[in-house]
Amino acid sequence: MEVRSVLRSLCLALSFGCTLCAFPGNHPALGTAGQFWHITDLHLDPTYHLTDDPTKVCFSSMGRPAKHAGPYGGYLCDSPYRLIQSAFKFMKDAKLQPSFVIWTGDSPPHVPVAELSTKIVIDILRNMTQTIQEYFKDLQVFPALGNHDYWPQDQLPVNRSDVYNAAADMWKQWLTQDARWTLRKGGFYTQIFNCNVTQQTLRIISLNTNLYYSPNKETEGIPDPAGQFVWLENTLKKAQQNKEKVYLIAHVPPGYLPDSMGTTAIREKDNERLVQIFRKYSEVIVGQFTGHTHRDSIMVLLDNQGNPINSLFVAPAVTPQRLSLNGVTNNPGLRLYKYDTDDYTLLDIWQYYLNLTEANEEKIPEWKLEYIMTVAYGIKDIQPQCLYNLANTFIGPYSQKFQMYYNHYIVSYNSSVECVGLCKVKQICAIKYLDHASYMNCILRE
Ligand SMILES: [Zn+2]
Ligand SMILES: [Zn+2]
Repeated sequence: MEVRSVLRSLCLALSFGCTLCAFPGNHPALGTAGQFWHITDLHLDPTYHLTDDPTKVCFSSMGRPAKHAGPYGGYLCDSPYRLIQSAFKFMKDAKLQPSFVIWTGDSPPHVPVAELSTKIVIDILRNMTQTIQEYFKDLQVFPALGNHDYWPQDQLPVNRSDVYNAAADMWKQWLTQDARWTLRKGGFYTQIFNCNVTQQTLRIISLNTNLYYSPNKETEGIPDPAGQFVWLENTLKKAQQNKEKVYLIAHVPPGYLPDSMGTTAIREKDNERLVQIFRKYSEVIVGQFTGHTHRDSIMVLLDNQGNPINSLFVAPAVTPQRLSLNGVTNNPGLRLYKYDTDDYTLLDIWQYYLNLTEANEEKIPEWKLEYIMTVAYGIKDIQPQCLYNLANTFIGPYSQKFQMYYNHYIVSYNSSVECVGLCKVKQICAIKYLDHASYMNCILRE
């Protein structure tokens, strides 16, 4: 503790830039750091089975031949149960005593709507919930619903539904009565994380950003679906008054998609409103965690003067399924966040992954550490200023750090894939600019 405090004061004294305060080879957070796991986009495909006809391995390949599929999955398929089990077994065997787990949704597979039903979606959600409870018996889990955790997919409604009710019932072990009440009403909730290590209160807000998701027809044209914006503002205002800190979890991320030009995952006007709320309460929100894109990316929210004020993290999926047309996908990933137990400030990310090709060849699912964020990029911590400085080092034609970032983006799927030119511009603008005006400026400038 003392050593870390001294190093931190030294850092503050030298706080010209984050790289000055790097701790080479020695992780600063060990000792008094708390930690929590983040898992997302499990996308279980119960039909996955090895067979001689590659088009019949999994429904989620939608007729494409799943060549090289093995016991732990294939790059054209969603997760076999064995892959998901291997992820939880790895986390359990790591014996890290995490404070809690965040689980940001999307459990059912990518298959045509007619292949699923409300009952199947609920059954899969229950199966995943029970699997998590089996591996982490007494551990607090904070879930968020994904756009696939509904039938028909993406159409999460603004009022009570069978899925919201089922989720509220099956997550009884983790969530308070108050949390389950709003979950039933609109698919979102807030809850205090109870911890007796620090005086500082941590509030979790699990937002149903699927209500703002562009393909959601149920909420089209509704200015404030399920009253979630007003609820969010009120919740943040109270948190501010009570001097709480907030971790915000959700499935669909705000901001621009790093793979496409000028496209937000959630509807643009809803994105603008969210960004305004995040700016207003940036001192209260000390971490934002989402999934959905299946890739590993960061975002830095800037205030109206261009100062970095919030760090946002998009965690990569457990499913390796390739949906994009550019031939690139991700290896299965899961991650651990390290935080300061005094005030919940985020310190670092330990990103783990499974090299699926290797796992299938060796028939052993050996999950490995992919990178430690501060060490990989030579930064002090993962606070907004550090991430902003890091993003600025990505600019320029020969940034090795950007090459590394892109390799992490696809979870070490293929290190020979290059992201240059427009690909890189889109990535960098998506990291630094979350609102329309500043993002468009970036695209035009770069
Ligand atoms: Zn997903
Ligand atoms: Zn999703």
